[in-house]
Amino acid sequence: MKHRSHISSCLKCKSLEGMYEGTTRRIQSVVDGRFCTLNEKLRELRKWQELRDEALDALYAHKEVHSREEAFREDKLRAA
Ligand SMILES: [Zn+2]
Repeated sequence: MKHRSHISSCLKCKSLEGMYEGTTRRIQSVVDGRFCTLNEKLRELRKWQELRDEALDALYAHKEVHSREEAFREDKLRAA
């Protein structure tokens, strides 16, 4: 049986990955950006870091669903 190169991805994976990438781009633009005060910069940075962490959590949680599905399919194949 051929090896599993990667866990299958779907439209939801794509959208969650897109959200995560969007937040990392925002973080980079905050890091590179000019702000009136350091506090303002740090506040923006924390805001986007939180959103990035949430996006990443959602992505991992969603990928778990796929790995359970794969395990289930493999059990069925072995049983057949
Ligand atoms: Zn998916």
